[in-house]
Amino acid sequence: MASRTKASEQLSDFAASHKVADTCTTGDGTPVDIKTATMTVGPRGPVLLQDFNFLDEMAHFDRERVPERVVHAKGAGAFGYFEVTHDITQYCKAKVFEKIGKRTPLAVRFSTVGGESGSADTVRDPRGFAVKFYTEEGNWDLVGNNTPIFFIRDPILFPSFIHTQKRNPVTHLKDPDMFWDFISLRPETIHQVCFLFSDRGIPDGYRHMNGYGSHTFKMVNEKGEPIYVKFHYKTDQGIKNLPVDKAGQLSGSDPDYAIRDLYNSIAEGKFPSWTLYLQVMTFEEAEKHHWNPFDLTKVWPHKEFPLIPVGRIVLDRNPVNYFAEVEQIGFSPSHMVPGIEPSPDKMLQGRLFSYDDTHRHRIGANYLQLPVNSPQKAKVRNYQRDGPMTVHDNQAGAPNYYPNSFQGPKEESRAAPTRFQVSTCDVARYNSADEDNFTQVSTFWTEVLSEQERQRLVENIAGHLKDAKEFIQARAVKNFSQVHPDFGSRLNALLKK
Ligand code: NDP
Repeated sequence: MASRTKASEQLSDFAASHKVADTCTTGDGTPVDIKTATMTVGPRGPVLLQDFNFLDEMAHFDRERVPERVVHAKGAGAFGYFEVTHDITQYCKAKVFEKIGKRTPLAVRFSTVGGESGSADTVRDPRGFAVKFYTEEGNWDLVGNNTPIFFIRDPILFPSFIHTQKRNPVTHLKDPDMFWDFISLRPETIHQVCFLFSDRGIPDGYRHMNGYGSHTFKMVNEKGEPIYVKFHYKTDQGIKNLPVDKAGQLSGSDPDYAIRDLYNSIAEGKFPSWTLYLQVMTFEEAEKHHWNPFDLTKVWPHKEFPLIPVGRIVLDRNPVNYFAEVEQIGFSPSHMVPGIEPSPDKMLQGRLFSYDDTHRHRIGANYLQLPVNSPQKAKVRNYQRDGPMTVHDNQAGAPNYYPNSFQGPKEESRAAPTRFQVSTCDVARYNSADEDNFTQVSTFWTEVLSEQERQRLVENIAGHLKDAKEFIQARAVKNFSQVHPDFGSRLNALLKK
């Protein structure tokens, strides 16, 4: 870590722009006479209950934290814009894609997934890459990761999966048995596990990694014609990953490496950017495709569904205040705008519920009224009222019931979802455990990775799997052998060492 960087100058920069200090006040704005002493009976105390300055300070301090996110607790944020570079109006009517050259302000939050808010940035973990587009038809959140796929394909497994990535409830330690037991019992995880233990499992900060919307979404054009899409946002800085030994050193010497790198890069005017691409699939193709296009453990092959360029994401502003703009930002995949709709992807459907639910618990029922979460270019006009911490005018005198005869907000047909037929099916809990868990991973092993990358992948897995119980190791090796016999035997040989 360089000893003084732009980040180290933050306080000096503040002082330089505030030649005269403001008067210190209590939370209700009254001036404070002495900030360094409580009000006491005599110089040796006790402290008086009438010392509001002290009570105001302490009571607020006691409430400084909101609950940390269960996943994605450690993160960094930045702001910027999205610029359209290619016309995709044939696919999508969303205002954000209206015309070439159009810019829409946005917020991004990057994160690690499993660690607590004080954990190291350079761990092997997927990275969150969530984008909030402040469009004139409301906010669109594309809540993605740095991988195009995920470990599971049914959301009912999500809480269990995350428990296995976190701490053992007795020892409060990360537990390799928990991790590998679940992974090896649910082989649909193997594709993402191979990405995780490949070189891309430890990106060099947040600027040098790709982002992916991961799920399949639906886009609809002005004529009401729908199509399925996937979003890819590729780093213009180039992919860069950290070698395992350097990442380990940084975990100790600079655990905030990725936050610092992003902050300094933007403060120095080196604005990171990503190019946004789409893959598109027609409904007919989706019906016929041999893979389920809504299975989050699989990609859409580039050769069949080539990347179509759309625009650029540029980050050019650091947060004005971390807590206000990054800790309190709340993304949800359910925040979609006319022209963008969910697909039947089960994982997406599960997330549509759980993100808003989390924020209402974590930040509060009115979390969408906070400046970073409220639309910048659209007005919120609805029939919701009241609740804790109502910070706006609560929609003043507008009618709070619908229908009404007094000019209350009206319906907008542009927002109607596309109609599509759902064929008659039996309602059941369908077991999706065995939906071809290995073919794409085999392609990854044989066609994408170089020999050196394969070797590092096996070593990285062995270095972690060796700490699990032997029967779990054996089951995991069996799964990796189904990706490729060579994969399994090389892993087995390393574990036997
Ligand atoms: P391609 O050869 O066109 O794509 C391979 C892709 O692999 C590259 O474009 C790159 O994705 C990605 N990649 C390269 N190294 C790594 C790594 N260490 N970890 C993760 N991803 C990496 O072939 P296909 O589209 O037919 O895909 C073949 C296999 O590649 C898939 O089965 C899948 O395992 C993997 N893959 C495919 C992606 C897709 O969306 N089609 C995306 C990522 C991986 P990128 O260009 O996004 O950087």
